[in-house]
Amino acid sequence: MPQNEDPAVSPAVAGDPPLSPATVAVVAGRPRKALDSELNTPVSLSATFVGGGSLGTAALGYGRFANPTWEALESAVGELEGGRALAFASGMAAVAAALHLVPADGTVLVPRGAYNGTHSLTGLLAAQGRISVLPTDITDVEGVRTALAGVRGPVVLWLESPTNPLLEVADLAALAAAGHERGAVVVVDNTFATPLLQRPLELGADVVVHSVTKFLSGHSDVVLGAVVAREETLLAALQAHRTLHGAIPGPLETFLALRGLRTLPLRLERSQASAAELARRLGAHPAVRRVRHPSLPDDPGHALAAAQMTGFGALVSIEVVGGAAGADAVVDAVRLWVPATSLGGVESLVERRRRHAGEPVVVPEDLLRLSVGVEDVEDLWRDLSRALDAALAHAGTPAG
Ligand SMILES: *Cc1c(COP(=O)(O)O)cnc(C)c1O
Repeated sequence: MPQNEDPAVSPAVAGDPPLSPATVAVVAGRPRKALDSELNTPVSLSATFVGGGSLGTAALGYGRFANPTWEALESAVGELEGGRALAFASGMAAVAAALHLVPADGTVLVPRGAYNGTHSLTGLLAAQGRISVLPTDITDVEGVRTALAGVRGPVVLWLESPTNPLLEVADLAALAAAGHERGAVVVVDNTFATPLLQRPLELGADVVVHSVTKFLSGHSDVVLGAVVAREETLLAALQAHRTLHGAIPGPLETFLALRGLRTLPLRLERSQASAAELARRLGAHPAVRRVRHPSLPDDPGHALAAAQMTGFGALVSIEVVGGAAGADAVVDAVRLWVPATSLGGVESLVERRRRHAGEPVVVPEDLLRLSVGVEDVEDLWRDLSRALDAALAHAGTPAG
């Protein structure tokens, strides 16, 4: 991406290597530097912007069209993903906007283990007869290619990698190429990886979707979403959707998200190191039937994740003995880990995903999703391993 050469706008120097993402996370989306200028873009609370008559049309116009605080976050997320970002009221508002790119009578191919909101929304749109939905195994590139060839009409290929919560890894470059051979719009939900670990637009995707609620904000105090694209017609369609459907972000939420984004590289570094260590130890716990984390050499997604990502992420899923009751017993027994939905915050959370009615049935009943935060890893391990003993008691096996 061309660097802005104005030192009042960007610290990047022409001819230098591009700034590292860890630096971009700190410097992007700042106001122009001038004497006494604010270091942070302030929270702009104005429902309208002055314009009209001889003043001409305001660039911002109205609070549903644009807002300076949104734009600061959008420029940072866009720079990190290598495209232009639009902030939305939630991750699901962003998902809905991207799904709106499927025209009536079009088809969307979705991962069979997609995030449950995406799974439920595509199911609803299909039940209403608006679009067709085809569940796919995104770990099988040839299978996706065959499915694409069998579909008539416009297609959106929806990808998630790693998936929530099965942590399946998709070959994004190969799938984007297969999608484009068929003329599909390729969308990647990059919530789990973040642009620090994986940049789908560079791998050929057309649209990236984020739940900014999760890692990008990172403090479990904001619900927010974003889409990122490069192509002008896609951006115009997504922006028109936001303006007309009205799922706009709040200015305070975008301020908090950008504040959280500044420390994403540090948080992620700690969380994913702890996640890999916990994944390794969990494999030896007698209450754990299976550990899913791409860092593990025997994980089905390991080789692909090692090639495609710059880290393995901070989510770990485990399947425990004693079925759903055993898994619930673990959730009841933790004291430091917080039993709650959501992920990507500084606090470690644990959840049995199938407790939600909307969860895809390919997710096992006894699966616990662990979102590893930034606490000390030994404290996390002590609490979790003790709680896992509760599952053993439930399965009727003596804890040992
Ligand atoms: C949470 C999540 C969403 C939805 O985001 P919200 O901010 O909760 O609306 C979408 N995709 C993935 C992968 C998620 O984890």
